[in-house]
Amino acid sequence: IVIVVIIMALTSLLGCSAPANTGGGGKTEKIKVGLSFSDFATERWKNEEQLMRKLLEEKGYEVLSQEANHDVKLQNDQVDNMVSQGVKALIIVPEDGDAIVTAVEKAAKAGVKVIAYDRLIKSTSIAAYISFNNVEVGRQQALGVMKALDIDNWDVASKGKARVVKLGGSPTDNNAILFRKGQDEILQKYIDEGKIEIVADQWVDNWDPANALKIMENILTAQKNDIDAVVASNDGTALGALQALKAQKLAGVVPISGQDATADGCNSIVKGELTVTILKDIRDLAPLAVDLADKLIKGEQIEGLKNYTMAELTNDPSKTGEVPCYFLPVSQVTKDNVYDLVVKSGFQKYDDVYRDI
Ligand code: BGC
Repeated sequence: IVIVVIIMALTSLLGCSAPANTGGGGKTEKIKVGLSFSDFATERWKNEEQLMRKLLEEKGYEVLSQEANHDVKLQNDQVDNMVSQGVKALIIVPEDGDAIVTAVEKAAKAGVKVIAYDRLIKSTSIAAYISFNNVEVGRQQALGVMKALDIDNWDVASKGKARVVKLGGSPTDNNAILFRKGQDEILQKYIDEGKIEIVADQWVDNWDPANALKIMENILTAQKNDIDAVVASNDGTALGALQALKAQKLAGVVPISGQDATADGCNSIVKGELTVTILKDIRDLAPLAVDLADKLIKGEQIEGLKNYTMAELTNDPSKTGEVPCYFLPVSQVTKDNVYDLVVKSGFQKYDDVYRDI
């Protein structure tokens, strides 16, 4: 019995599975990893926080986590603070891909491995950037809306050009720029063919649905409700815009895109209001970030990352340098495939998607 107890005590001291720091007094502490989020207003971020926290804890790490409520300065302070608390890696969703650079470069200098999560941080000091194919997100949004308009058979002679509204995301989020790049690729073809015209082009600060609602009300007033389609950039802003459309009895009449396959977004799809959303499976991205952080901390070989130039990543030719990246694929979701892609796969619950119908 004594021998068994000694072996058990030794095993727990060595902390077999958990990576550990030996503090000053020979005391064993867990290695810390920091998570930093721009906000928890968009449905996905809180889910990803929970997922990454669980996976990191399973690997034996202590998790510090902060949410900045869209406040750029607060997010920098939170990152600085986690660095002074001794995190070895940081997984960051930046509110502003430029403004976060100060804190990130300080962290990198202190030896912290920084992963830009979903949104780019515009610094070559990051260890990696992992996300989805964001330009493809934009293409699929515009394609979904154009298909709903049946644009290939649009009769310009009798109806005039289709009048399209563009509603971008937060201008400080590099993803918003990439979504727009993909959307424009598709729309430009129809502009060149003389089939559509852009009647309004706006960006929604903070991706805030209330801002989107106000912007759409103003557009509808200015255009005397004469619009044919809206290319919006995520579910939150699309649902805000839909409230304005609903007030004018245009919900379900004017096609509109979203993104994220949120519970509310998918519910709006089955109700015939939101036309298309984009599924980006966070159940694949979160584990990837955790695995990467673990390997970076342990100094292990990382495979599968590919260098991309900053110019390419930002759609800005003046930017220099490269960063190692990984991009996951995305899928277009409409009424036809929402059950298979979103519900059957367990991404959202049946009761949430088919609520009140
Ligand atoms: C993300 C979207 C999200 C948006 C608002 C973007 O950077 O890629 O999935 O809807 O931010 O939080």
